[in-house]
Amino acid sequence: MRWKVYEMRCITTLAKLRGSVVHDILGGSLRGVRHGVDVDLQTAKDSVTEILRTKYQESYMRIWDSFEKRQGRKPSEICNLHEHYYNFTDVADRTRDARNVAWTCLESAIGSDIWDSIVNSDPKKWMEIDEDDFPNFDLGGIKVYANIDFAHQCDKPTIIDWKTGPKYPSDRKQLAVYSLYAKARWDWKPTETTLVAAYLYPEYQLDAYVPEAGEVEEAADMIKRSFDEMLALEPAFGNADIENYPMTQDKRSCEWCRFRGICGYETGDETP
Ligand code: SF4
Repeated sequence: MRWKVYEMRCITTLAKLRGSVVHDILGGSLRGVRHGVDVDLQTAKDSVTEILRTKYQESYMRIWDSFEKRQGRKPSEICNLHEHYYNFTDVADRTRDARNVAWTCLESAIGSDIWDSIVNSDPKKWMEIDEDDFPNFDLGGIKVYANIDFAHQCDKPTIIDWKTGPKYPSDRKQLAVYSLYAKARWDWKPTETTLVAAYLYPEYQLDAYVPEAGEVEEAADMIKRSFDEMLALEPAFGNADIENYPMTQDKRSCEWCRFRGICGYETGDETP
């Protein structure tokens, strides 16, 4: 059972995969610009096609499931698509759709004014974001991870987040958390930091603002509250008590839940 849970923890979806591919390519392109390499949209789009093809094959062939085929890689390093794992019948079509969305995202980003202003700015004013270690900061003893896409202080301190999906009310909270990271890492004042959500699909849209002090405090409180809630449920040692985890009655998340194969949702036996 433990292995099964680990296996399911490694499942991803095409939507998440296309998002991470777009982020990786935009990040890589800006690293290239820093070293004097021009960004070419067609090359970026070709990279999307190649990466998605490779990931699709890995997942289709279930490489993650075979010690021999993994060749020393961990299962978590190999693509395991939810759409394959749960036997969707149209994965190839969905992968083509994911590629098209990713292409649109790249066209939106690389064709945007904000991209233009970044690539024509002084890279010395771009902030270093640790690529190897997942960026994090300390918030009153809590280690908080903040995966910032891009930050600079060309004109004023600015954090940019590329968004490959729809707009969510929580997006501004996420950006407020990034402003806390910038405070811890670069000593930027959150209420003087411009936060930019750049929505790339279905159409390009910018949400740029400087947060109010209350918004930033609310984001910090939210982290502390949710951490306390987790600590109250999860013992520091030993097994968690399953009675503390009743099955949800709201089934809207179930179709895309990676654990749906073990909780009883698949079989209709929903007794935990
Ligand atoms: S009840 Fe739904 S959300 Fe909860 S584990 Fe099962 S499939 Fe996932």
